Amino acid sequence: MTKTTNYVWDSVNDSVLSELDGTNTVTATYTNEPQQYGSVISQRRGTTSHTLHADALGTTRLLTTSAQASSDTYLYDAWGNLITSTGTTVNPFRWVGRYGYYQDSSTGLVYVRARMYQPTAAMWLSIDPILWILFITRLNGVGTYVYCNDRPVASIDPTAWLSSSLTAIVVPGIDSETCEEAWKQVQEEMAKWEVIIRKKGCGAPEFECGDCKGKGGSVVYNQNTKKIRVCIDSCNKAKYNKEELVLALKHEYVHAFDHCKNDKRWECDTLGCSEIRGYSFNCVVGTRWRGKMSYEDCIKKYATQSLELWVKSEKTPPPCKGKEAATIDRLMEKCMVKEGDINAGVVPFPI
Ligand SMILES: [Zn+2]
Repeated sequence: MTKTTNYVWDSVNDSVLSELDGTNTVTATYTNEPQQYGSVISQRRGTTSHTLHADALGTTRLLTTSAQASSDTYLYDAWGNLITSTGTTVNPFRWVGRYGYYQDSSTGLVYVRARMYQPTAAMWLSIDPILWILFITRLNGVGTYVYCNDRPVASIDPTAWLSSSLTAIVVPGIDSETCEEAWKQVQEEMAKWEVIIRKKGCGAPEFECGDCKGKGGSVVYNQNTKKIRVCIDSCNKAKYNKEELVLALKHEYVHAFDHCKNDKRWECDTLGCSEIRGYSFNCVVGTRWRGKMSYEDCIKKYATQSLELWVKSEKTPPPCKGKEAATIDRLMEKCMVKEGDINAGVVPFPI
């Protein structure tokens, strides 16, 4: 037996307002908050109203009646598979229902605006309708079906346009996961650098999220894993500053490239020069590194500190031990990238 349902769609807020049957008789009406994706509050079906109560991700956990009694409960896993439920009220807004994820009871699929999602497969059923070319080139096509970068408890994707982080909404409160979402966003900005670094015969660096244990950086190079570590600390809501994180990443890309071009070894001059090049980014006007210093003083200060740290960490004392500041001074003119070039978006990789 087939059944027809017509939907009245609020195109401004991108949400369902009501459902009608095949004879255009209203069967359900939804009350939404006046905001994008609706944020559904309650439904009226026939003569019965129910209020939806959602968790932090937007998944409905409880329905209550107009007498404020609990009528239905739901428990879903991270990918939208029902674990257990009570009650028999018809309600399509369940897993991430608050943002309009619409459960189709006849197919078990979830309708999310641009695409259908299959909870049992933990994937979209079709490729990304907008940016599929980007994903095919960058992620060999895998990313086109992936839901929220495989981080379903850290983000939601109510547009279904981009299975990565660009439109996925980061759910605050889970630091390490928020961190991963944050660096994925800044990583998008590094796409141009990645292409250039590959063209010049060096691999683009890999990333990880982690605790930097008081090292004070927003990004550090992890010697053990050989990955650029984005410090969880710098992604905490209060401290996260996208522009500064991008500058810090560019600094690390410079290191990755220089390290590759110097046969994967650092010496006093090669690392000193690389730090000067790197801090040319951190030290542009307006960053917390620069503060009230001049551009040159800022670069000298931090490049010297970094060189000192490296000297301390080497088992055999390098020849510049005790002469770190003098080494940086000597290399400044040769290695510094002009502030104007940085502001103009120059990617400083010599051949
Ligand atoms: Zn550095």
